[in-house]
Amino acid sequence: MKILVATDKPFAKAAVDGIRNIVEGAGHTLALLEKYTTPQELLAAVKDADAMIVRSDKVTKEVVDAASNLKIVVRAGAGYDNLDLDACTSRGIVAMNTPGQNSNAVAELAIGMMIFMSRNCFNPGTGSELKGKTIGIHAYGNVGRLVAKLAKGFDMNVIAFDPFVDNAKVKADGVTPVSSIEELYEKSDFLSLHIPATSETKKSVGTALMSRMPKGACLINTARKEVINEDELMEILEKRPDLKYVTDIAADNQTALNEKFGIRVFSTPKKMGAETGEANVNAGLASANQIVKFFATGDKTFQVNK
Ligand code: NAD
Repeated sequence: MKILVATDKPFAKAAVDGIRNIVEGAGHTLALLEKYTTPQELLAAVKDADAMIVRSDKVTKEVVDAASNLKIVVRAGAGYDNLDLDACTSRGIVAMNTPGQNSNAVAELAIGMMIFMSRNCFNPGTGSELKGKTIGIHAYGNVGRLVAKLAKGFDMNVIAFDPFVDNAKVKADGVTPVSSIEELYEKSDFLSLHIPATSETKKSVGTALMSRMPKGACLINTARKEVINEDELMEILEKRPDLKYVTDIAADNQTALNEKFGIRVFSTPKKMGAETGEANVNAGLASANQIVKFFATGDKTFQVNK
């Protein structure tokens, strides 16, 4: 089988070497398309691929239609909103992600962002500490759980809201589940966002939730820009000069936000949550292993288009 790694933003070399070992060791062929600059390059590369590994690369219907041999596509990462699942499903292509493989990298970044914002983006002046503050975890999945664990190390009070996770599991981690999303925002000095971008969550965080946050609160977004209502974010930051916003995914109106709110807002220049050597290797190798297992045994454990 021909397995294509199509990465506009390439994996670290160690990850590519590891993927090659796994793929070739199982008797398959590896093809690499890195740093491509036009969609046409991707369309040409997928033509005879049986499997594909991508990162944030967009697997559109056009890509799926061009890939007549494709049987499986794996998104090396957690969020899979870059895959057109309907297009995959209608062609019988299995779509997977690699949950948990980059979670630690993202969780560490979220903590770093909190410290950075608490210390005035490292500008002179009096900052504040994390100790004793309340952090709200919005979605208690792989990343949310790790942020909670790290935050406890800073002696923070950790609360969480996730309607799809059993509260007993949350409590077992020493984290307090709250009964509503409104309560989560009302109690959180720091609110760490970990919801996926879905039709339900897109633009779901805006005035209604942020206006409930306590004085001086900070919203940390390492999830997706799409979950924020950006017009309302602009409005609430204007109305509430005490609130702060830090994100790993620049808003469409980030320049305007920066100009208007100075060090109350910050965005990483390019999404870097999963950009560690460790996460690269973890997610890359997991992708390759999942594909090899799928071809060998039909295993679909991490399928997301069921
Ligand atoms: P995950 O699938 O392990 O967890 C997602 C959690 O969201 C689940 O527990 C689920 O129950 C919960 N959830 C779903 N809908 C919800 C809703 N409406 N309200 C509350 N909770 C809801 O995913 P993860 O690995 O924790 O990653 C979370 C998100 O972070 C991903 O979807 C991705 O968009 C983003 N992410 C960003 C980076 C980055 O580089 N910044 C890297 C990895 C993941």
